[in-house]
Amino acid sequence: MAECIFCKIVAGDIPCHKVYEDDHVLAFLDIGPLSHGHTLIVPKTHHPTLDQVPDDVAAACGAIVPRLARAILRATGATAWNLLQNNGPDAGQEVEHVHFHIIPRESDDNLGFRWHTKSLDSDAALNLKVAISDALR
Ligand code: AMP
Ligand code: ZN
Repeated sequence: MAECIFCKIVAGDIPCHKVYEDDHVLAFLDIGPLSHGHTLIVPKTHHPTLDQVPDDVAAACGAIVPRLARAILRATGATAWNLLQNNGPDAGQEVEHVHFHIIPRESDDNLGFRWHTKSLDSDAALNLKVAISDALR
């Protein structure tokens, strides 16, 4: 993908602060960090969103998350972390090359998410679980 900024980073055409690399995955510091140590994990192949990613690429991305998170916690002194993963503009995705945010957290860091929960209607839940289960086949 010639115009994809993360493909350009993977290709070495634009610089990044690389913290990890293997055959399938690159991890580097976010240029607009939400907190100290905010890091992105990207697959080396271009896929717009996680639902379009083949299983082996998803596995490679997921496999490095715990080790990288441990290293970030150790390096930053953060006490907690969020794994954030946006898919599609309506979910806040700005770079259309799938990526995982590791966001270090501390108490009182004012980085809270505001989720306004609704209640799950039991009839709707029944229909929904059938629809999702059927769609998985
Ligand atoms: P998202 O909203 O999930 O698509 O997040 C995209 C993230 O990519 C943002 O947190 C940006 O700060 C980050 N970003 C964009 N360009 C670069 C870059 N050249 N190097 C590092 N991070 C970047
Ligand atoms: Zn790309």
